[in-house]
Amino acid sequence: MTNAPRRNKTRAERLSMPLARDVVKDLANEHGACLRPVQLRRTDLTTGETEPVLVPCGHTLASVCPSCAERAKSLRAAQCREGWHLDHEPVIEPDDPTDDQLSLIETRADAQAMRDQDEASGEDITGWDEEVADLDEQINEAGIRGNVLPGRSERRHRSTRRRHDAPPLPKRAVDPRTVGKAYTSPDGKTFRPSLFITLTCPSYGRVKADGTPADPASYDYLSAARDALHFAALFDRFMQNLRRFTGYDIQYFAAVEPQRRLAPHVHIAIRGTVSRAELREVIAATYHQVWWPSTDTVRFDGGHLPVWDEGKATYLDPATGEVLPTWDEALDAIGDDDEPLHVARFGDRFDAQGVLAGSKDASRCIGYVTKYLTKSVADCHHAETGAQVRHAERLADALRYEPCSPTCANWLRYGIQPKDAKPNLRPGACKGKAHRREYLGYAGRRVLVSRKWSGKTLTDHRADRKNWLTSTLGLPATDPDRYAWEPVSPGDHDHMPVARRLLHVVADRIRWKQALDEARRLAQGQAA
Ligand SMILES: [Zn+2]
Ligand SMILES: [Zn+2]
Repeated sequence: MTNAPRRNKTRAERLSMPLARDVVKDLANEHGACLRPVQLRRTDLTTGETEPVLVPCGHTLASVCPSCAERAKSLRAAQCREGWHLDHEPVIEPDDPTDDQLSLIETRADAQAMRDQDEASGEDITGWDEEVADLDEQINEAGIRGNVLPGRSERRHRSTRRRHDAPPLPKRAVDPRTVGKAYTSPDGKTFRPSLFITLTCPSYGRVKADGTPADPASYDYLSAARDALHFAALFDRFMQNLRRFTGYDIQYFAAVEPQRRLAPHVHIAIRGTVSRAELREVIAATYHQVWWPSTDTVRFDGGHLPVWDEGKATYLDPATGEVLPTWDEALDAIGDDDEPLHVARFGDRFDAQGVLAGSKDASRCIGYVTKYLTKSVADCHHAETGAQVRHAERLADALRYEPCSPTCANWLRYGIQPKDAKPNLRPGACKGKAHRREYLGYAGRRVLVSRKWSGKTLTDHRADRKNWLTSTLGLPATDPDRYAWEPVSPGDHDHMPVARRLLHVVADRIRWKQALDEARRLAQGQAA
């Protein structure tokens, strides 16, 4: 790859560019190439030569990059398939941990630098944010405690009294085993069934076939909003209970998506099996209590809002000058006789089916669990009728003033300073994702995978695929120590405009495809 010298474009050239870009985009899409390749500069440390390298954006939404989203989805499907029916305990990376951790931190630092650079130049950084979150998770999994960046602090400890309106659950000590039981049929065949479960939220009122309430006036939007906000925590609680109940370290691969009525539900592939009766017992005993201050009384509204005191770095009542209780003070004020702000539970209805390794059912379920992964929550169901539009609006309204987290600006509405309060917070204008229409209250991760599912991270699964490709093509392995990588920014002399990047990736795709076809032909020729 070489770089043409930069020159100023004529007005006509500039005007024709967006159109040309669309054409190239279509072409890239057709060839399964990334639509937003990121340019990196690779320096050969032995020769000092530099070369531009285009890496796929890796976005998971088809609306942003169809090719990357499709690849991400099939990677998830591979991850789901590999872990579901494991018949041996996965080995978790025996590599030298310090080197491992160090390289993760370095990668994390690079990703942050590139993300910040993109942000500064006004580009979409959603992909980077996901990458950074992914890396943070890997860093924590690698045994480094805490976060690279401050901001997400520890959860406050609160003793949880068991609820008396939920049946108690027998608890066993959890065995470190993660593999399900094997059964032997009379004819001596061994099989290892696993389970596919779908859990939903409870009813908020009867809904029609189009997902809209039969009686909008009595539909419980508040509960729907709160259940969506705390759905991820409820799911965690369920898995914890299931492990304690079955007595082994059950592993899962789960995907959260909205139902037609816009409430989240979760499809869970678990390793091993549980009977329907047992499952019903665990679901009935599972709840998540939200010990947050009460939001019963609206204290500040409209133009009457708390004011920020610069000197004291605190919010005051605009009329009396009284300092509002801080988040910690508000939590301390919750007494033993108080009720939690919300109790989230699953609905009684659930779906469960046993699935055998490698069966048609297994493929069908994997297709099911990964089906909506390339779509944002809001894109899963489009509002087509007036009733559907109104239903979505009413849910969004219910979420508008509902606190999404301890740091939510909405706490000011109820006379409480949000945790880590800072200036310019306004109730109803919290930036938390959960309030945004497209998230329907659920701002958590769409795919939830337990640590010992396949014993591999997504990066490992990606590397598997790359190794397969390089070995099929007979390419030599590159020595990672030989190169240094850095991001290329728009001001750099070797920066390529988007249209040129796209042309390069299309050319690459065509070359790979030809090489791959050729390799396959040769392999078949040898076999014949
Ligand atoms: Zn892409
Ligand atoms: Zn919020």
